Amino acid sequence: MEAMKRGFFGRCPHCGKGRMFRAFLKVADKCPACGEELHHHRADDFPAYVVIVIVGHILVPLVLLVETHLAPPFWVGMTLWPAAVVVLTLALLQPVKGAIVGLQWAFGMHGFEQAKKDRAALGGGLIPAGNR
Ligand SMILES: [Zn+2]
Repeated sequence: MEAMKRGFFGRCPHCGKGRMFRAFLKVADKCPACGEELHHHRADDFPAYVVIVIVGHILVPLVLLVETHLAPPFWVGMTLWPAAVVVLTLALLQPVKGAIVGLQWAFGMHGFEQAKKDRAALGGGLIPAGNR
C-alpha cells in the first residue's frame, strides 16, 4: 500500500514529499509540504509490538543457529545479541510507526476520517489544505 510505504520512509502519506516526523518518533502536526493534518494518528504502542515481532523473528533463529553451530565464547553472546536487539529496534521503530500512521491515514481511522471523505469526494486526488 502506497501510504504505508511513504510512511515507512518517513514521508507524508498524502503527498509523499513532506516529512512525517519532526523529531525521532515525533509525528509532525501536519505535513510541511501539502498541509495534510497528521496529528490525528493514534499509533500508540502498536509500532513497538510490531517491532518486537519483527526483531524476534529475525534474531531468535539467528541466535539458535549461531549458538548451536558456532558455539562462540559466552561473552560474545552476552554482548552481540543485546547490541543487535538495540540496533535493530532503534532502526525499525520509526519506519514501522510511519507505516502504521500511513495505514491509519489510508483507512481513515480515528481523526483521519474527514480527510478520507474529502479525498473520496474529489476522486482521490490531492486536496490543497486550504480547501477543506
Ligand atoms: Zn504531504
